[in-house]
Amino acid sequence: MGRYRMQGITLALLLLSAAGLWASDDTTPNSSALQDQQQSVKASEMADRIFYREAKFVQDLKSYTPMVETYIQNFKNNEQLGQVPSSDKYFLGRLTLKHGIEDVSFQQNNKSLPTLMLEKLNGFYKMNYVALGFMQMIYISGFDQRNYDLKYLHQEFLGGVRTLVFDVSPKPKVKGPHFLGRIWVEDQDYTIVRFNGTYLPQRRLNFFFHFDTWRTNMRPGIWLPAFIYTEESDAKYALFRKLSMRSQTRLWGYDLKLPSDTDEFTSVQVDSAADVSDQTDSDNAIVPVESEHKWEREAEDDVLDRLQRAGLLAPEGEVSKVLETVINNLEITNKLDIQPEVRARVLLTTPLESFTVGHTVVISRGLLDVLPDEASLAMVLAHELGHIVLGHRLDTKYAFGDRLVFPDEDTFARIQLARDPQQEVAADKKAVELLQNSPYKDKLGTAGLFLRALEARSKDLPALITPQFGARMAKGGSVFRMSALLQSAPALQLGDVNQVAALPLGSRIKLDPWDDSVELMKNKSVPLLSARDKMEFEVTPMIPHLARYRDQQVANVAASDKRDEK
Ligand SMILES: [Zn+2]
Repeated sequence: MGRYRMQGITLALLLLSAAGLWASDDTTPNSSALQDQQQSVKASEMADRIFYREAKFVQDLKSYTPMVETYIQNFKNNEQLGQVPSSDKYFLGRLTLKHGIEDVSFQQNNKSLPTLMLEKLNGFYKMNYVALGFMQMIYISGFDQRNYDLKYLHQEFLGGVRTLVFDVSPKPKVKGPHFLGRIWVEDQDYTIVRFNGTYLPQRRLNFFFHFDTWRTNMRPGIWLPAFIYTEESDAKYALFRKLSMRSQTRLWGYDLKLPSDTDEFTSVQVDSAADVSDQTDSDNAIVPVESEHKWEREAEDDVLDRLQRAGLLAPEGEVSKVLETVINNLEITNKLDIQPEVRARVLLTTPLESFTVGHTVVISRGLLDVLPDEASLAMVLAHELGHIVLGHRLDTKYAFGDRLVFPDEDTFARIQLARDPQQEVAADKKAVELLQNSPYKDKLGTAGLFLRALEARSKDLPALITPQFGARMAKGGSVFRMSALLQSAPALQLGDVNQVAALPLGSRIKLDPWDDSVELMKNKSVPLLSARDKMEFEVTPMIPHLARYRDQQVANVAASDKRDEK
């Protein structure tokens, strides 16, 4: 292929120079024609590299089994706020491509991931979500020179990565669904790092969303999909209904291995006898209470480990430390000395929830994102600390190895962490007590305000407030959690730009899609122009700051060097 193109150039050059000889006083148009020719050759070489690279991407993707989470909000008009969510939907699964396109759902009775198909059911048009359509947002299907034309537009920086931007359009003869839109290609290997647009033709019963897909550089040379944002503001998807929706899809857990892929036995390391001293000392004998505590901690560690291996829990890290600091503030001011020490972890999913696993407090990424301040975070943590102080224990059945051997997608069914309502009420009561003695006691107004916002929105966001493990915080317009704080909370002022009761989704936590670690976003606060900017509990567009993997490592090292100097 390449050689034919080279011959093409040579021939073109010959013709042009011949033209130059014939009309030597009129060289300008010819030299510009030459430039055009060169440019179009260069562009078609680039196109070949892009098509090749994308085919390799699709092949490489098969070795990964990331978690995929999609959260969709439908919108309705609102006088004060422009638009507000009117309903929502949630999907969580794991993507496997080995045997074609599959997805393994973590939710019962919910076997597919969202996409773009409509289905006529009993005379009504119903949005139907099909896995195949979803995959068309992970990569462009049939993306090669037979099907598509690329038109080079310009260079553009996406974060710290220089990209070349192309318009993509199907060749005229192409039939069936095809992509129409734009791609951003990084300038070293020509990997597509972002693409957005939609598939055509749009039909009433086969409706494609507009989407914006981002891949991030997770390891040297490896770019993998991490975010997909979808939005429709004015789509006529059935006979007369209009659709206004937004959705966020996140992928993570790329470094997770499916159980069948692991070679655990080959990596077991046995310490040499010299390094290990057997603890046979009689002073180390364990008394009964201590053994009970150890047994419980073992069950706790086993459950946490299982959740982490299922791709649902972040490893310990910076955010755990922040949460443990707030918990520590509550403990110290209440003169509590809890053994074993209370720890904290982040559940990687969006639905708002918190729960305890033994002495470990777990709080979801989605809940951390929307909490407006430290006092409201303290409220959530105080409730869980209440459970711990009151001795609400984890079922120690999880200390037996057999109980944690199951397929990842059964995790929600197999690990039960919800508590009975009496324990919830008791934990709330204890939490109010803990907060009254804490540094947060004068700031509980904002915590109550958060609950008011939750109360106002919960009827329209049933998926967001349905927990996977923990107890409900709210349902159908009523707040169940810490409702005592509602009484002292100020009234909700929807139109007041200065009253921020809850944040948009994705406001605080940055998730590393490769190793599942989480960190707090270091974002500057952006002034809100109007009440429409508040977007409490809402899905917003996702525009990640792209950086090359190596650059990021260098930046991290530089940052830590700086810290060391101080
Ligand atoms: Zn609880």
